[in-house]
Amino acid sequence: MSAAAHVEIDRRRLRSLIDEEKSRFVASHPRSRVAFERSRESMVGGVPMNWMDRWVGGFPVVLDHAEGARLTDIDGHTYVDLCLGDTGAMAGHAPAATVRAIEARIRRGVTAMLPSEDSVWVAEELCRRFGLARWQFTLSATDANRFAIRLAREITNRPRILVFNYCYHGSVDETFVVLDGGRLRPRDHNVGPPVDPAMTTRVVEWNDVEGLERELAAGDVACVLAEPALTNIGIVLPEPGYHEALRKLTRSAGSLLIIDETHTMSAGPGGFTSAHGLDPDMLTVGKALAGGIPIGAFGMTPAVAERVEKAAIDDTGGIGGTLAGNALSMAAARATLEHVLTDDAYGRMLPLAERFAGGVQSVISELRLPWHVVRLGARAEYAFSPQPPRNGGAAHAVIDHELDSYTHLNALNRGVLLTPFHNMALMSPATTPADVDLHTAVFRKGAQRLI
Ligand code: PMP
Repeated sequence: MSAAAHVEIDRRRLRSLIDEEKSRFVASHPRSRVAFERSRESMVGGVPMNWMDRWVGGFPVVLDHAEGARLTDIDGHTYVDLCLGDTGAMAGHAPAATVRAIEARIRRGVTAMLPSEDSVWVAEELCRRFGLARWQFTLSATDANRFAIRLAREITNRPRILVFNYCYHGSVDETFVVLDGGRLRPRDHNVGPPVDPAMTTRVVEWNDVEGLERELAAGDVACVLAEPALTNIGIVLPEPGYHEALRKLTRSAGSLLIIDETHTMSAGPGGFTSAHGLDPDMLTVGKALAGGIPIGAFGMTPAVAERVEKAAIDDTGGIGGTLAGNALSMAAARATLEHVLTDDAYGRMLPLAERFAGGVQSVISELRLPWHVVRLGARAEYAFSPQPPRNGGAAHAVIDHELDSYTHLNALNRGVLLTPFHNMALMSPATTPADVDLHTAVFRKGAQRLI
């Protein structure tokens, strides 16, 4: 469809609708508002972690309880949760098998500076799913990335890493760089960087094979850290042949390829790596693995593991964490992988995401909106440009904060939680077709009011 065929969004109307939705939100969430005001006396910004106040109503809804794909706040509103803790709850909230394993383990001790038998099961299962043969465990995906990078530097003896424009891999210092007119600069709002990231990092656009080749040619890149599709600036899929080029070029440059599957585990039981036959040197993952209990993991090939073992890494050298690999994380991960995020569950989640993307697309087409929707396995996201951008820079350029605010508030006020900072929806094993259809209906009405 040509751009001329699209409807115009009336910005004045959009702003007045946002104001209307905000008033409605404030009026219907008195207890969350009072809790937030009180919290300002004891927590910086009134929240346990700064990003929690970035919900669009001016204050966050306060969680009372959540089960399956439903979440209830302290004002008594129940939502269809399509945010799912930004993937941390992709297994659904409080999945029964995981809860049973947690209850049993917690009575038998959690932290002992010793491995538990569950860790072997989990490492073997991660090997079966992702194809990487040797594993280490952390408490978060951020730490998995940090430690994988450290090891890559150690065994290659090279100083730099390479990442993609507008990537996100957790709070990993080296990754907060962007391209600005073809030049690298620190990303906006990069808080207190220890050194100028230009010293540690090279950055290229996703899907740019020539740029990648040029940057790797310097010979100083220890590792390329990549999500297999960008998921933190909308979803930006790899173009045909891109992964083959990425693998070939990293290999010939002597740089390790680290694939971060933390979000792309939505692609299938073995993530994008298994679904598309990728062959990384290392792989990182976290968030959903243990059904919401903190965990991260990084795997490596036997060849990389051998180099790591030879390097005789000392436990004070930047890799560690007293609670890493604790028995509770391992018991929860075992139960979640064995009984919750199973092949069968993915068999239900993927068609639900297709249904979600199909519903959104039907509204976009019907109303001739200049928007698009992209799906990646069990996750889908819509954004406000007619065509899907092909890289992070282009995706960043089309961010529309007003439309983001409106779609979020419109959904929140009608019983649907979307992921903040995105218009992302994730399916869990507990999500139903009716949940998806509720979103489609709410999205349709919200869009109709705009035009
Ligand atoms: N990798 C990716 C791709 C992520 O999106 C995130 C967080 N959104 C992380 C790593 C870090 O996860 P965590 O904050 O749980 O450490």
